[in-house]
Amino acid sequence: MPSVKGLRERLRDGESIICAEGYMWELERRGFVRAGAFTPEVVLDYPERVLNLHEEYVHAGSDVVEAYTYYGHREKLRIIGRECDLETLNLNSLKMARDVADKYGKLMAGNLSNTTTFKPDDPEAAEIARQAFKEQVEWAVKAGADYMIAETFNDLQEAIIALDVIQKYGNGMPAVITLVIYSPDRTTDDVPVVEALRRLEELGADCVGLNCGRGPETMMPLLREARKVCKGPLAAIPVPFRTNQKEKTFQALTDPISGERLYPLNLACVQCNRKDIRKFTQEARDIGIQYIGLCCGSSSHGLREMAEVLGRKPPASAYSPDMEKSFVMAKSTEGHAKKVRDFMIGDTK
Ligand SMILES: [Zn+2]
Repeated sequence: MPSVKGLRERLRDGESIICAEGYMWELERRGFVRAGAFTPEVVLDYPERVLNLHEEYVHAGSDVVEAYTYYGHREKLRIIGRECDLETLNLNSLKMARDVADKYGKLMAGNLSNTTTFKPDDPEAAEIARQAFKEQVEWAVKAGADYMIAETFNDLQEAIIALDVIQKYGNGMPAVITLVIYSPDRTTDDVPVVEALRRLEELGADCVGLNCGRGPETMMPLLREARKVCKGPLAAIPVPFRTNQKEKTFQALTDPISGERLYPLNLACVQCNRKDIRKFTQEARDIGIQYIGLCCGSSSHGLREMAEVLGRKPPASAYSPDMEKSFVMAKSTEGHAKKVRDFMIGDTK
């Protein structure tokens, strides 16, 4: 069905892939997802908002339209009493992503996420996850997804179940599996991160890596370690927030002024700027990360930075900054306009 070059072929040929994630976060910010349950009923209630965001991220440089089914599984929808909408939600979301991908010649990815009910070494929890993944993978196959993203797994065991289900029921679709690593450099079932990624790679994932949890500064050291050990393509989808050695995850970040913890509602004051994203993309490119994107906190201007670092010119580049056209910020500004600028920045006598 896809007329565009497949994910596996792009990875094989050493190409870079930009993947916009973080739909849940951005739609919450826009007033269409409730923080707390973080469920994706917007797909049914305001589908045009999801569609718009898909198109916006493609405009900004995403090569992938990821169906917004994050937390769109039975366990999560039960919390909001909409379990009965599960199949419609998934199929509608996948169709919308497929339509946008086809319209713009992009890849469409189905999505699995952590179930939130998983417990390591608990056969019952494992079975619940397996069943949730199975139905979502089957819907993705039905909807003609090009590949599956299985993301934000804090337990390696749950990620392995997701990969296994994709391999069994995904009709040969490629699998990109990403773990979320919190403050310790290991999964919550206590496997060192690099070992966990290597394990997923050995089990046959097409691309393994990290998403969510950590920002650029604290994800990069793990990626460098992973690059030394993993043989295949790596994925890097950080949250664009200024995590640091003291506060390694965006859940841990505190307000530089008040000292209060910021997650999840008040993180805007520690958002990465465009230069931070540019630097991360350059470093990732330099160590050979092929699959890159932004998770919670993703934005079109951030994605465009990534795209431009990778030598792309997405449609949004038609509107890339040109401060020489600014009446106050251009280098050539003089006369009264210069005085105005001095007033703006406080550089006055
Ligand atoms: Zn995220």
